[in-house]
Amino acid sequence: MIPVTKPFLPPQQEYNKYLQGIWKRRWLTNMGPLASDLEIKLSNHLCVDNLLFVSNGTIALQLAIKALGLNGEIITTPFTYVATTSSIVWEGCEPVYVDIEKDSLNIDSSKIEAAITKKTCAIMATHVYGNPCDVEAIKKIADKHNLKVIYDAAHAFGVKLNGNSIFNYGDISTCSTHATKLFHTTEGGFIVTKDKSLLKKMDYMRNFGHEGPITYREIGINGKNSEFHAAMGLANLKYVSAIHEKRKKLTERYNLKLKNSNVVNPLWHKKSVSNYAYYPIIFESEETLLKCIDALKKNDIFGRRYFYPSLANSLPYVKTIALKNTDNISKRIFCLPLFHDLTIEKVDLICAILLNNQNK
Ligand SMILES: *Cc1c(COP(=O)(O)O)cnc(C)c1O
Repeated sequence: MIPVTKPFLPPQQEYNKYLQGIWKRRWLTNMGPLASDLEIKLSNHLCVDNLLFVSNGTIALQLAIKALGLNGEIITTPFTYVATTSSIVWEGCEPVYVDIEKDSLNIDSSKIEAAITKKTCAIMATHVYGNPCDVEAIKKIADKHNLKVIYDAAHAFGVKLNGNSIFNYGDISTCSTHATKLFHTTEGGFIVTKDKSLLKKMDYMRNFGHEGPITYREIGINGKNSEFHAAMGLANLKYVSAIHEKRKKLTERYNLKLKNSNVVNPLWHKKSVSNYAYYPIIFESEETLLKCIDALKKNDIFGRRYFYPSLANSLPYVKTIALKNTDNISKRIFCLPLFHDLTIEKVDLICAILLNNQNK
């Protein structure tokens, strides 16, 4: 069976070495030495000043909303994983959807201003598949209307824009290090902000608001992560460039083999390069997509309709609206298998099946 993704695992003895230290110290969680070490190594690797390692990418989004004190309407994209929207609603705010661009698949910044009302407090956009949003246009709008900006950068590990880490944009950027992501810590995520006092605030918030054992500085939640998760991250971090190289090779193979097909890829930001987190293709019609999914299934190959359906017409807790590009694209987009253990031969097989099932 070929799944859409398969988590990378480091050599077991390398993970075990970290476990021995955990057994010796009996310090299992609550910002232990491995978690602190991971924070330092990750900020160096990503070229960001500071970051907070938290329990997952969803709690990272919720901490961001909470720490910025957001209240009211948040302009966001319907073409993302459900956690982007659910964290807005969970924090008592209202998501207001703006359609995506049909080539980049990111929120269409030219349509944001029309969605701003007196109640708008922020823009929360996703760098879909790691592809940077139009961060300059979004910043201009946010500054003009005094709005906060949060980027859900769950897909964007290692992505740079103009040579600068993508995590340095917006008031806060968040990432997920879930097992299915490019770089993982089993479960986990992190938060980046250049604002030192905001960082400190979220540092208190992820630990119940504790300032000391009997003093509290903020309202908090349990957003900490454990030494076991940090150990997985430290063990995996060593392999990040190998993972990147392998995915790049597989991606280039897909590109080559699908060059003459009818599928197209989302258009990547001109001043950035892909981190090869996903391999999305857009079919000419939903009919062809379904036919290809079926043919792949018969060969025990599974991609994923990511993101389908549009969040703007599928959530029981959000008012549904029709959005032209999102509705159109979400029906035709499909992510092909892409993971470290995938082989060039399997990519060729997948592409042959796709080519065989188009336009017939
Ligand atoms: C994975 C993901 C999340 C959630 O991250 P978790 O670590 O699974 O909580 C949020 N947003 C996007 C876009 C994601 O892909």
